[in-house]
Amino acid sequence: MIYLGIDIGGTSIKCGFVNEAGSILKRFALPIFPHEHQEDTIKRLSVAVKEGIQSFSFGPIQGIGIGCPGTIDSFCGVCTYSNNLKWSNLPICELMNQETGLSCKMANDANAQMLGEARFGIAKNYSNLVLLTLGTGVGGGLYLNHHLYEGNEGKGAELGHMVIKAHGRACTCGRRGCLEAYCSATALIRDTKQAMNKTPGSVMWKYVKDHSGKVDGMAAFECAKMGDKAAQKVIDSYIGYLGEGILNFINIFRPDAIVFSGGLSAQKEALLTPLRKYLEKWKYGFGGANAPKAELLVSNLGNDAGIIGAASLAMPEAD
Ligand SMILES: [Zn+2]
Repeated sequence: MIYLGIDIGGTSIKCGFVNEAGSILKRFALPIFPHEHQEDTIKRLSVAVKEGIQSFSFGPIQGIGIGCPGTIDSFCGVCTYSNNLKWSNLPICELMNQETGLSCKMANDANAQMLGEARFGIAKNYSNLVLLTLGTGVGGGLYLNHHLYEGNEGKGAELGHMVIKAHGRACTCGRRGCLEAYCSATALIRDTKQAMNKTPGSVMWKYVKDHSGKVDGMAAFECAKMGDKAAQKVIDSYIGYLGEGILNFINIFRPDAIVFSGGLSAQKEALLTPLRKYLEKWKYGFGGANAPKAELLVSNLGNDAGIIGAASLAMPEAD
């Protein structure tokens, strides 16, 4: 069985034909033009999809799955609103179905990724999972009792907007103190810049100079590894906030594992080891010594997580 996975990003749309084992057999991509009318982008996508299907020789396509950033009504296949793409009320699945005749399912990109990791990635042997994408924002996905949990209108699970500090920093969502305001790469970069301005002697200045001159989400992590105290302080604070958020998720969902993806997850053990220590300090949440320990994992589907995750949406549910 072959499915088409479509991963809509900020600047391009990546597509891949994926088999039932989660392998990408053939791929194609198209750019997103910032000022193109939203329906025209989907029209262009459907033409590319039709051409892709015609030239694909490995067998018939069973269905299309799409991962899209923003607030997605996954029941109706509508992109309700995407801040990045400036799309609103765009019935993507209906338009794709009209053009291709294939059934089409769509979900928020983090939810699609959650399903991909649970079925084909690092978390495939677990039944209860929380996914956090640590990138420009903090995205979230939930896989509960072997099923993707999407909530009302399929618009869950915005885990990044759990408040971890009442009346704290302003968040992009309008509230204050959200996990995203402390644990996104954007927040880490802001904290790194502040620490650099307070400590002119920090190794971070040299690191940034040697790495394109721009402060990124890696700077504090890398300089902490070199023993820079100011960088270590930034990381300790970052881990503290992320640890609090994770303890909340552990208490609520009792997941078998937490999966990290997105830019900052590239730090792997430099992220996971101090986080584990933080969770151990609090005995992995409510229940003390008897609380089950959630494992911490980093996504292993890499750049293909979006395509494989999207294709997973179109596959029949495994029980
Ligand atoms: Zn928020």
